[in-house]
Amino acid sequence: MDHRTRFFLGGWLAFSIASGAILFLKKDPAFRRRFHPWFSLLSGVLFLGVMVSMGWPLRDLVVMIPAVALIWLLSVRSTRFCPSCGSIVGGRPFSRPNYCQDCGSRLE
Ligand SMILES: [Zn+2]
Repeated sequence: MDHRTRFFLGGWLAFSIASGAILFLKKDPAFRRRFHPWFSLLSGVLFLGVMVSMGWPLRDLVVMIPAVALIWLLSVRSTRFCPSCGSIVGGRPFSRPNYCQDCGSRLE
């Protein structure tokens, strides 16, 4: 593993842990709603950086880039934030939850 791969892999892991911790600790639903898509997007870009630094061939990246973008889109679309308790409510990839699993409030 060369230094570029270690850089992107370490950056991806550190960023994923840090963004997860920030979203876990900061209970404000508006903050979570605003920053979750950006955290997810940057995590996906860093993941692609790991692949590029590992020397993945271009034809594989042509498949992986839309796959990562689709995963990001489905994650952002299916994740909701409870306005009452601030919980992160994850749905299935093709559906959005309507009620909070922690307090039962209707989601906006
Ligand atoms: Zn709730």
